[in-house]
Amino acid sequence: MAKFVYRFDEGNAGMKGLLGGKGANLAEMTNLGLPVPKGFTVTTEACMKYLETQQLTDELIHEVKQALANLQKETGKAFSSATDLLLLSVRSGSKFSMPGMMDTILNLGLNDENVERLAQETNDERFAYDCYRRLLQMFGNVVYEIDSSRFENYLDFFKTKHGYESDADFTAEDLKEVVTCFKSIYMESKKKEFPQNPETQLFDAIEAVFRSWNNGRAKVYRSIHDIPDDLGTAVNVQLMVFGNSGSNSATGVAFTRNPATGEKKIFGEYLLNAQGEDVVAGIRTPNPMSELATAMPEAYTEFEKVAARLEAHYEDMQDIEFTIEKGKLYFLQTRNGKRTAQSAFKIAVDLVKEGITTKEKSLMKIDPNSVNQLLHPVFSDEDLKSATLVSAAGLPASPGAASGKIYFDADAAKEHALLGEKVILVRQETSPEDIQGMVSSEAIVTSRGGMTSHAAVVARGMGTCCVAGCGDLEIDEFHKTVTYPGGQLSEGDVISVDGSRGEIYLGDIPTTVTEEGENFRTIMSWADEFARLSVRMNAETVNDIKAGLAFGAAGIGLARTEHMFFGPERLLEMRRFILANTVEERKHALQQLLPFQQADFEQIFKLAGERPVVIRLLDPPLHEFLPTNRKELEHIAKELDMPVQELERRVIDLKEINPMLGHRGCRLAMTYPELYEMQAEAIIRSAVRLKQAGQNVQPEIMIPLVGMTRELTDLTERLNKKIAAVLAETGDSISYTIGTMIELPRACFIADELAEAAGFFSFGTNDLTQMTYGFSRDDSAKYINQYLEDGVLAQDPFQTLDESGVGELIRIAVEKARAEKPSLKIGVCGELGGDAESIAFFHDVGLNYVSCSPFRIPVARIAAAQSAI
Ligand code: ADP
Ligand code: MG
Ligand code: MG
Repeated sequence: MAKFVYRFDEGNAGMKGLLGGKGANLAEMTNLGLPVPKGFTVTTEACMKYLETQQLTDELIHEVKQALANLQKETGKAFSSATDLLLLSVRSGSKFSMPGMMDTILNLGLNDENVERLAQETNDERFAYDCYRRLLQMFGNVVYEIDSSRFENYLDFFKTKHGYESDADFTAEDLKEVVTCFKSIYMESKKKEFPQNPETQLFDAIEAVFRSWNNGRAKVYRSIHDIPDDLGTAVNVQLMVFGNSGSNSATGVAFTRNPATGEKKIFGEYLLNAQGEDVVAGIRTPNPMSELATAMPEAYTEFEKVAARLEAHYEDMQDIEFTIEKGKLYFLQTRNGKRTAQSAFKIAVDLVKEGITTKEKSLMKIDPNSVNQLLHPVFSDEDLKSATLVSAAGLPASPGAASGKIYFDADAAKEHALLGEKVILVRQETSPEDIQGMVSSEAIVTSRGGMTSHAAVVARGMGTCCVAGCGDLEIDEFHKTVTYPGGQLSEGDVISVDGSRGEIYLGDIPTTVTEEGENFRTIMSWADEFARLSVRMNAETVNDIKAGLAFGAAGIGLARTEHMFFGPERLLEMRRFILANTVEERKHALQQLLPFQQADFEQIFKLAGERPVVIRLLDPPLHEFLPTNRKELEHIAKELDMPVQELERRVIDLKEINPMLGHRGCRLAMTYPELYEMQAEAIIRSAVRLKQAGQNVQPEIMIPLVGMTRELTDLTERLNKKIAAVLAETGDSISYTIGTMIELPRACFIADELAEAAGFFSFGTNDLTQMTYGFSRDDSAKYINQYLEDGVLAQDPFQTLDESGVGELIRIAVEKARAEKPSLKIGVCGELGGDAESIAFFHDVGLNYVSCSPFRIPVARIAAAQSAI
């Protein structure tokens, strides 16, 4: 029989799937002997079962009651006890951390009667009623789904009425009044009483946490982060400890290292005499952990000790939630801390240097996609000097820099982003409801809340730049204005946000990309130690090649030649070639193109040095080079000295119904072999030039869109002949290979035959995906988006390899090819070559390299290493 409830001392960190991350780590900490309040975890399986049947099963109810009885026995506390009142926290927690996405209820078990007893027992009426009003608030929100603003507005109103600065000013009498009012909010909005029976409260709470798995914010969060919908959440039921029981008590959240910079120093915030979410909710401004060292030195030293122990145990930076009750420290949660890419690299390197973990484990912990964050833009110092500062009082919550128009609510931000505007979400603080607006924003600014506030955590997770807790800003969300020391801004005004410094400026400031540092280079060199796949770049322009080399490209996996025909002089000759009536005319036009091609290739080879360079011979259909509008037609006709009607007729002639399935790729050369011959000649002549200058180049000549063996053998023969003639003329020797792209399903099935004739293979995943699905690459977004939304497709196959279809074709091709020619070099070019998930597959099927756009190279190098570890 399934077991639905685990005591903390029955679980461990490996049980995240069943107990959720929070539950598994509470169990692990319990087993390490750390001060963790006792409790038990209801499993995610129980949650999925509940969501199926919409009710708690008898077995589950029985197991929970047993665990409860056991807890009472162990602690001597009871719901009904006169002296030792049992109060609980009910906490959600799924396999993957979903910060703030599902809700927690504290102080569960209180009611009208025992709250009085708690007051007497603790001799602190204020404390007892503070706990009770919190319970009413959280229970009302989580279980009865009463909008939390109902309660908060009342608290705000009460504060204003009494001229209070913060919630710390409430007296016991005030809190009694608040409790009465909160109960009337229940009646008003839901016509339901607050359940006085603690057990009823508990089961209601468990059900509500289960249901919260499917609330809107949780769903959005899961879809953004690719978390499956069928995991469910566990429920942790735990003895309360009280951070709000006087000035010798506190609650806080701290990281073992700085999550923004990686600096090795306890980093976090705490609040005296507070409970639960007070720290992250931005209700009062919390104090930095460094102050706890002086405020409560003993507790702080203990915290440091345990934090270091946890870090060593998990071999990673930890994000820890703790509470101090009357001087005694308790640990309520630990998990591997979220961090910026910058700090991730520093921490990964430092943990290895400190002997806490190994290179392999450190590499495995880096999210390859987070590398993109490293390449985040910044404002230049020069531009900042001349810019007008709005405020420098914010926290540097998430690095990066961005400009955009300000909006004061998530919906407006989202709408305007959809219209193509760059938007910045400006709010007093954010909450999970704002998630979609946050996703749409270039930057997020808040006036309240600290480095661990919702805005800060979520922004860091998404790699969006964020300035939090900017106290200089008076944000009026209702009138949509923000007042700052030097003036006022309204909705739609443009600001620039520097998330690395916590600064905000007026107007639009251009950005530049950051320089990656020492730690980045260390990690990359480790990655290369482990990776088996090498990583090349898809590049042909000077800038791209330089960028790719800076990111460590091992060569060029795809230099496309089509753009090389576009300069005005070249285009004219290209058109002459296309429109020629005789072979002689064609050859003449190509002869004019040869020097251009040769110069281009020379430049590419020069930059690439002695690294291998794949040059793809011309691929697109010819009509792409021809004019379309009347005026251009007339102009070209004149230049080519032919009648307009004649030109028009030829253009119409060359139009194709399915150009992507048309006269393109090697089919061009099967009909006009002179074209590829000219390109091969240009490649070899430029290689000869460089060789004579002392540089050995490695040209890999790639024939695209081969689907039949004869295409490859015929063209290879012709190119070899041409190259031999050129080399005979110059008297040099160049080692080159001629290979083919594999981008048609048929090519995969005859890969053995092709392998026999080919010097190398490179999978063109864009066309292969297009041809396999019959999805047009260029205009499939309409239905693919719908498919993704409906779950018909789990992922866009143009972005992440479809393993079961396209991947299967690749597998077949590799097997057949290697059976024929075991040493055949096989690579992949196209978008998927830079996708971390797809790279794992390419590693597994035994490819030699992947090739991707320059900026994705670091991602690919890390993914390649991770695939090999
Ligand atoms: P989240 O997943 O949103 O962080 P938690 O379940 O961790 O939610 O609860 C939020 C906060 O509630 C904790 O950081 C802690 O301050 C407080 N809390 C939770 N359980 C207890 C407990 N047993 N005693 C005291 N405070 C608790
Ligand atoms: Mg929470
Ligand atoms: Mg927590």
